[in-house]
Amino acid sequence: MSNADPIELEKFSQLAHRWWDINSEFKPLHEINPLRLNYINGMVKLPGKLVLDVGCGGGILSESMAAMGAQVTGIDLGDKALQVARLHLLESGNQVSYRKIAVEELAREMPGQFDVVTCMEMLEHVPDPQSIISACATLVKPGGHVFFSTLSRNPKSYLLAIIGAEYVLNMLPRGTHDYAKFIKPSELSRMCRNSSLQVNDITGMHYNPLSKQYSLGRNTDVNYMIACSRD
Ligand code: SAH
Repeated sequence: MSNADPIELEKFSQLAHRWWDINSEFKPLHEINPLRLNYINGMVKLPGKLVLDVGCGGGILSESMAAMGAQVTGIDLGDKALQVARLHLLESGNQVSYRKIAVEELAREMPGQFDVVTCMEMLEHVPDPQSIISACATLVKPGGHVFFSTLSRNPKSYLLAIIGAEYVLNMLPRGTHDYAKFIKPSELSRMCRNSSLQVNDITGMHYNPLSKQYSLGRNTDVNYMIACSRD
């Protein structure tokens, strides 16, 4: 049985044609992208690296890593997102290899073949995040790096990520996120260690609604990233 929620995939399909519109529902992903790209590149030096981007969607992160000189494969289970991602390459001139395949299946096909695996803003949309994390750990080479980002689960994240972003600021369509699927940093760290990944860093991504700017910092109450490596 596949570890994907058809309702979640459908939500992203409905919006997929607006993936590269920086004023669309995907605006937050465009805005955080330079921050996460710098964070990843600061740890792994992307030029020349073989990178897998899991749950790549329309390819915002995949393309930016390719533009920095990484050789990127992007996988997703959403047909429309992948179509948009492939079309956008014609416009940008970047090179990314996109495939529709579950990460668990790719882990059987290509174990230990990537220098870097990224899986951003996806774990909170899947039925079994541990299975995704284990597959990512299998796909990376020994000594390689794995990055995840997701939303934490506490009253503040409920207030900001759901009430604030979906109901007050209308940054995201209502129903984008399901609070019960949010993952605390301690839970994500445990899942990484369960999959033999060493947790090297956890960094918060903070949105300031007044300046409308994102910044990285120590506060992991709402959005955060985690950097791991495989022994
Ligand atoms: N990682 C991208 C897109 C995040 S949106 C970025 O941060 O820019 C979440 C993406 O996860 C969507 O494209 C959706 O189709 C994908 N997704 C959801 N469940 C998935 C699953 N089980 N396997 C692969 N992709 C999945």
